[in-house]
Amino acid sequence: MSAEKDGSRPAASAQKIIVAIDGPSGAGKSTIARHLARHFGLLNLETGAMYRAFALKALREGLSLDESAGPESLAARTTIRLEPGEEHNRVLLDGEDVTALLRNQTVTDAASRVSVFPAIRAWMVRLQQEMGAAGGVVMEGRDIGTVVFPEAEVKIFLDAAPEVRGLRRYEQLGAKPEVQPAEVIREMRARDERDRNRADSPLRPAPDAVLVDSTHMTLEEAVRAAEEIVAAKLATV
Ligand code: C5P
Repeated sequence: MSAEKDGSRPAASAQKIIVAIDGPSGAGKSTIARHLARHFGLLNLETGAMYRAFALKALREGLSLDESAGPESLAARTTIRLEPGEEHNRVLLDGEDVTALLRNQTVTDAASRVSVFPAIRAWMVRLQQEMGAAGGVVMEGRDIGTVVFPEAEVKIFLDAAPEVRGLRRYEQLGAKPEVQPAEVIREMRARDERDRNRADSPLRPAPDAVLVDSTHMTLEEAVRAAEEIVAAKLATV
């Protein structure tokens, strides 16, 4: 039973832990992170939203995303903040609430492209470490268990077959006639390739991460599996 249903309070030990959730897009990270945060009384931080917000600013400024110089100097005059939100975090870019502008295809693609630049990653990692320093967080991304918080108490690497992830993403987009499932899968594969093959912090499971492959699971089953992993860890701290 979930905390929000049974009204139970999170265990004191949960209040300080860091739960790192990594994996490719469409694996169910957001849904699972959101649920774990509610269930265990943790703050949910979506690091992808930070790369998206920065990409939005780079697009607005008409920067080339093929070289790092423009994005690097832009980072020096950018502030990004995450706040708790309903479904997703509220994202403040230089104080402007840009939450509703971050999920379209143009920003999604640009976020994937700016995230390969080491100086941008180093800046993001620093911000994320500051945000999670006090513990009591579920942080979701691609490099949380490997780079941002290698000492996190719980690390979960979520994966699923590309076709399954692509279809989930397609359904999330609201099955619009102008969007073809094959296109969504193709675009998602391109982002995955970039994440897995970039030189700096490529997407891969931390050696001590628990792997959850949700290819043959419903999202509810994957949520339960993640909940059990965190509960088992909490029983030992
Ligand atoms: O998770 P989300 O799809 O919102 O992330 C957007 C993009 O940001 C991803 O495609 C990925 O390239 C990048 N990202 C990253 N490291 C993170 C989170 C996101 O490189 N920790």
